[in-house]
Amino acid sequence: MTVDPTSNAFDIEIDVLVVGAGGCGLVAAIAAEAGGASVAVVEKLTRLAGNTLLSSGSIPGAGTRLQAEAGVEDGPERFVADLLAVSGPHEAEHLTRRLAATSAELVEWLIDEAHVTLTLVGTYRHVGHSVTRLHAPPSRRGADLVADLEREASARGIPVALGQPATSLILRGGRVVGVVTRDAEGRESRIGAGAVILASNGFGGAPDLVAAHCPEARGTTYAGAPGSTGEALAWGLELGAATGNLGAYQGHAGLARRSGALVTWTVIERGGIIVDRNGRRIGDETLGYSAFAGVEAAADAPLYMIYDARIEADVASGQPEFAEIAEMGDAAAGADAADLADAIGVHADALGATLADAANAAAGGEDAFGRTAWGFGPLGAPLRATEITPGLFHTQGGLMIDDDARVLRPDGSAIAGLFAGGGAAAGISGRAGGRGYVSGNGLLSALGLGYIAGRAAARDTAAKRAAE
Ligand SMILES: Cc1cc2nc3c(=O)[nH]c(=O)nc-3n(C[C@H](O)[C@H](O)[C@H](O)COP(=O)(O)OP(=O)(O)OC[C@H]3O[C@@H](n4cnc5c(N)ncnc54)[C@H](O)[C@@H]3O)c2cc1C
Repeated sequence: MTVDPTSNAFDIEIDVLVVGAGGCGLVAAIAAEAGGASVAVVEKLTRLAGNTLLSSGSIPGAGTRLQAEAGVEDGPERFVADLLAVSGPHEAEHLTRRLAATSAELVEWLIDEAHVTLTLVGTYRHVGHSVTRLHAPPSRRGADLVADLEREASARGIPVALGQPATSLILRGGRVVGVVTRDAEGRESRIGAGAVILASNGFGGAPDLVAAHCPEARGTTYAGAPGSTGEALAWGLELGAATGNLGAYQGHAGLARRSGALVTWTVIERGGIIVDRNGRRIGDETLGYSAFAGVEAAADAPLYMIYDARIEADVASGQPEFAEIAEMGDAAAGADAADLADAIGVHADALGATLADAANAAAGGEDAFGRTAWGFGPLGAPLRATEITPGLFHTQGGLMIDDDARVLRPDGSAIAGLFAGGGAAAGISGRAGGRGYVSGNGLLSALGLGYIAGRAAARDTAAKRAAE
């Protein structure tokens, strides 16, 4: 922390300074500029490569016009009920309500004002949503979402300085008044700002912080972006900020071990199962991809997702990334259970018995793990298997904020001049562990809180100017 009681010596002064050029930061910058503020973004990496770019770009919106056109009845109350049913009680339920209430406005603003191309995802519903609610780029790639946001920021003349990590906040009279950045040559810049928005994501890329706060995720492979190393949390704690839901994370139980590609959970929704090295199932796969990552972390690797050619064709037709898994040779094939067991090196009798039990459950019998949803029903020949490993995508806890994304102290007072969103802020995925994550929670927190923070920061700086 740089405490600066008197000096006015800033290299540049602007209304709103955004730290991090991911989904949260770019949306915050666009929203603040739209609110009349002068804005700049500083980004640690030399190119845009945050989690938003790695994501499939799915953003939930409850009550959007796209849903209405598709005949889907939805609204914030239903969305809040869905979110809380999965997350359980947690430390930031006010954000669950705030984000659900803002979600439709956010999706429509992204389309109309930020010129992001989004369509309602009808091919899959995904974990935790009782209706079709996810909106995504047609390609289902976060890279397209980021490209659209970057284009919009550029069209609005918002500078995005790459390779300029923020290294500390500047504090004057108890108020955050700017940040210090340092470039690759070690040159420091002091940027003065009426408001600073921390959009630098969480701490998934800092193994010591993951071990301290999310011990259950220790056995997983970090598959998120390299920039998520927890600076916002460290700065906030130094300033005496409160934190929320620090133990929560988004896992993914379907990382293809060889290629690192993501095996979409739609394969499970269609009837796929997961087996361990002994050819036995390890739990109810329909718990969801985040919750099941914790189950896998405690299981006997190698692990395989087993599906059939019908599921492969169906999912590949709607999700091009999944089609690439077969193209990359990451899907072993077997004419029957014995043939597949031979191809992946598990015991044929054990795999045969597992598939017979699963087929019986999928046909209406009882499942030992209590699974009741089996998609297309029993798996049939020819079969497929992809070796998978559990991944950690994103931490879901961070600085406690209010309904306007202002960073709060434990007594509920706001730290003047400081906002946070996305992975830098407390999430809405439960108190701890990977079980509270509903599809889209990551981007809803990132883009939703970016939208809220950008607008509030622009309002604050306009009021400050008017008072001067
Ligand atoms: C493979 C994958 C798939 C996913 N799919 C989805 C999905 O479909 N839907 C969903 O809702 N969520 C998804 N998620 C989660 C989602 O991507 C994240 O929750 C979200 O992108 C976080 O956005 P953010 O803006 O907070 O962080 P990021 O997009 O990571 O942006 C943060 C930026 O800040 C920069 N930064 C960090 N420290 C500093 C610093 N000191 N100074 C300057 N810059 C800094 C980083 O380099 C980075 O560019 C997925 C995650 C992964 C890994």
